[in-house]
Amino acid sequence: MAPMPISEVKGNPRENRTAAHSHIKGLGLRPDGRAEGSTSGFVGQTAAREACGVVVDLIRAKKMSGRAVLLAGGPGTGKTALAMAVSQELGTKVPFCPIVGSEIYSTEVKKTEALMENFRRAIGLRVRETKEVYEGEVTELTPEEAENPLGGYGRTISHLLITLKAAKGTKKLRLDPSIYEAIQKERVRIGDVIYIEANTGAVKRVGRSDAYSTEFDLEAEEYVPIPKGDVHKKKEIVQDVTLHDLDIANARPQGGQDIMSMMGQLMKPKKTEITEKLRLEINKVVNKYIDQGVAELVPGVLFIDEVHMLDLESFTYLNRALESPISPIVILASNRSSAPIRYSSTSLSNGEASLPASPHGLPPDLLARLLIIPTHPYNSQEIDQIVRIRARTENLTLSEDAFAKVGELGVSVSLRYALQLLSPANVLAKVSGREAGKVERVDVEEAEGLFWDAGRSASALTTGKGWIV
Ligand code: ATP
Repeated sequence: MAPMPISEVKGNPRENRTAAHSHIKGLGLRPDGRAEGSTSGFVGQTAAREACGVVVDLIRAKKMSGRAVLLAGGPGTGKTALAMAVSQELGTKVPFCPIVGSEIYSTEVKKTEALMENFRRAIGLRVRETKEVYEGEVTELTPEEAENPLGGYGRTISHLLITLKAAKGTKKLRLDPSIYEAIQKERVRIGDVIYIEANTGAVKRVGRSDAYSTEFDLEAEEYVPIPKGDVHKKKEIVQDVTLHDLDIANARPQGGQDIMSMMGQLMKPKKTEITEKLRLEINKVVNKYIDQGVAELVPGVLFIDEVHMLDLESFTYLNRALESPISPIVILASNRSSAPIRYSSTSLSNGEASLPASPHGLPPDLLARLLIIPTHPYNSQEIDQIVRIRARTENLTLSEDAFAKVGELGVSVSLRYALQLLSPANVLAKVSGREAGKVERVDVEEAEGLFWDAGRSASALTTGKGWIV
């Protein structure tokens, strides 16, 4: 048997972390700041939503510097959802970086380094550049073939002909084949509005017209020349990146093409390192662009769930980072009313792993900077509403009886558990060949039997009802 190839395990893309909250579109507040029924996907939790609305106002008024928010409440009470909604209220391109306290412990990266990286993920930079672009609706995309120099059947594309129709007229562009890749990457189709940067050939799709739906047709041969007017103009291009994106892009080894520098790159460890020096360099360039008015900082939201998992060293770092003029909005969350403050193991002299218990497991100097917002458990009606919103977002159809069962589990176990059963129940419904894929109560019950919640699992194991006594 051929040996199984070992493939590199890539971390979960970060978007997965917010997928469970895709129904949340904002805090759902009226102009007077009061929480509206269940708008923006948010149900109940009105006091916390209103308090978060005040935080958004404080951020806008630049009155949050040096301070942070703590969302205190039980699991599944919407703390992550609230933090995400705050970032949405601040603007569509505002970065949202959710992490869990325990994530900063790794053998590869120092804790403060891991924290710093996430701080930079939560700070956006909006760069405005004026570029020469061709802009218009694509009416023609024709690859021009050249004779294959090696003979045979393979096709070589020598140029790409694009006809763009703009308000002023139509322009035929004969472009280098390298643009072909960019056109494919952007999935440009006839009928799309695109712009092509005059210098670099970068392509951006800025709109899609439904009038045409023809896929980019490689075989298209006809080419109607209708040159008229000009579609060449200066355009302001806005690009949103995070400071961390810039760190990564600049840490990549970029050597020359000669043999020595290529060999040199082989010697370098594959994992590129973002050094303090590199960050300082990047900050310098960013500051220059800000001074020139080309770029502006867009502070986002750094959300640290289970913040009691951090240790004293990390809290000290957090305190300092909050004072930085380019700090993101920091929202912490904890479901512990009181917990011992962790000590870093290196600073231990007497073998103790923690300091005495403190509110939420946080040191007093950090507590003093916090605006604390409590979140409360949901009632059965609210749970039912949330389940229905989630089902709609995930495109699932449930019978009324199935909704009732999921709702019961939301009350008796947890909202998180109930929501997690939706997808498996849907799979089970499909396997059972239910009519129109409708999920029935039995499917939810079967999913409940297959997948245990943490409480049931743990108690079965300790009381001997499970497999381990
Ligand atoms: P934990 O303490 O376990 O991290 P949490 O308090 O952060 O939990 P969330 O993860 O925000 O809870 O909530 C669990 C799920 O319920 C998510 O899918 C979330 O989007 C949804 N949810 C929670 N509260 C609401 C709400 N008020 N309205 C709509 N959806 C909600």
